Amino acid sequence: MSKRIVVLGAGESGAGAAVLAKVKGFDVFVSDKSAIADKYKEQLDKYQIVWEESTHTDELILNADEVIKSPGIPDKAPIMKAIIEKGIPVVSEIEFAARYTDAKMVCITGSNGKTTTTMLTYHILKKAGLNVGLAGNVGKSLALQVAEDNFEYYVLELSSFQLDNMYDFRANIAILLNITPDHLDRYDYCMQNYINAKFRITQNQTPEDAFIYWNDDPIITEEIKKRHIDARFFPFAEIKEVGVKGYTENADLVIEAPESDAFSMELSKLALSGTHNLYNSLAAGISAKLLQIRKEKIREALGDFQGVEHRLEKVTRVRGVEYINDSKATNVNSCWYALQSMKTPVVLILGGTDKGNDYTEIEELVKQKVKAIVCLGVDNSKLHKFFDGKVAVITDAGSMKEAVDKCYQLSDKGDTVLLSPCCASFDLFQSYEDRGRQFKECVRNL
Ligand code: ADP
Repeated sequence: MSKRIVVLGAGESGAGAAVLAKVKGFDVFVSDKSAIADKYKEQLDKYQIVWEESTHTDELILNADEVIKSPGIPDKAPIMKAIIEKGIPVVSEIEFAARYTDAKMVCITGSNGKTTTTMLTYHILKKAGLNVGLAGNVGKSLALQVAEDNFEYYVLELSSFQLDNMYDFRANIAILLNITPDHLDRYDYCMQNYINAKFRITQNQTPEDAFIYWNDDPIITEEIKKRHIDARFFPFAEIKEVGVKGYTENADLVIEAPESDAFSMELSKLALSGTHNLYNSLAAGISAKLLQIRKEKIREALGDFQGVEHRLEKVTRVRGVEYINDSKATNVNSCWYALQSMKTPVVLILGGTDKGNDYTEIEELVKQKVKAIVCLGVDNSKLHKFFDGKVAVITDAGSMKEAVDKCYQLSDKGDTVLLSPCCASFDLFQSYEDRGRQFKECVRNL
């Protein structure tokens, strides 16, 4: 009898894992506590995979030989507790899929910047003509691509939740961008547990593999001292320090990987602006260099990358004012990086669902660069409490249209209007994407 694989959660990763398991000849069952989207039902039906939705039936799940769990399901969920109690092995979709491919894996994790760096790396590799797939948190699941395509390289965005259930997976190139507190509710409110999850990206690496990381992150550098990591190290930083392989010098970005064949390019030619994006460009550039992509191609690709929607995305100019959509800035740290990259006076849209924000981090930058704040949220009291008296103008808006209209009135030629709200979007919008799209639409209708 073939081995029974139960897939929990039928979103992009679960549905893909089920297809791959079926193709590989397992007895597959898919169970989702919520309704399954039609797109995934069709996919499962196409491969004659048995599924259930809106429930978990214990008898059909607890007889599994192995469970593939979607990253959204916490170990605290009752069904997971039962699975763990029975001692059934649980793996992530990425772990399962990687068993069936020899492709080289370029993997990106961190608290901020994953999607940008993943897309940028993919852009360079693709432009250089490699046979490369994009997976993880972005695009199609790795499992589905392993089942249906035949890529030689993958660029994978890995969240800590995906890394949690990875054991034998080996990253040929691992990028760790930064570690700041996030998702601690899933890690028993213990920062070390979250750090451990992020460092799983280095487990199973060999001396042939590469570990690229931000050298100025105190959490990363402290943790490295405690661990034995076999990969070769390629740290990057803004300023050149001993051992750093990617840095800036004069007005250039420099990558010494390998030292004998250094790469450099003018900072002004980089497509992405801001210090945070410099880090992302360094990380992506080092990985491309290690894959022996021609310097000319790397230069071209770092220079013409279109950016990712809702991340410091330039929308348009209206009467000499630049409008920028950074709706993905759902915490204070990402707004700090956005403000830091601004070169003109700013009219800033802040607000939404507060996640326990401490605005002290952006106070100085706001005082230096922001001429007006438009508070866009159901409850703006915390913003007023903190910012009243610290900027010339602070006003409220109850809808995106009202916010954009106010920004239009408050800005002058040469200014920038920036949506970088520091908050989640769920009070007034369906998601940060919805918020960003409404912003763009209102701006285009000005
Ligand atoms: P993630 O996928 O990790 O959430 P994104 O690339 O979607 O990261 O970026 C999320 C937010 O973080 C954006 O507002 C962006 O401006 C900011 N950001 C991007 N890269 C970095 C970085 N290296 N360090 C800090 N913040 C960053």
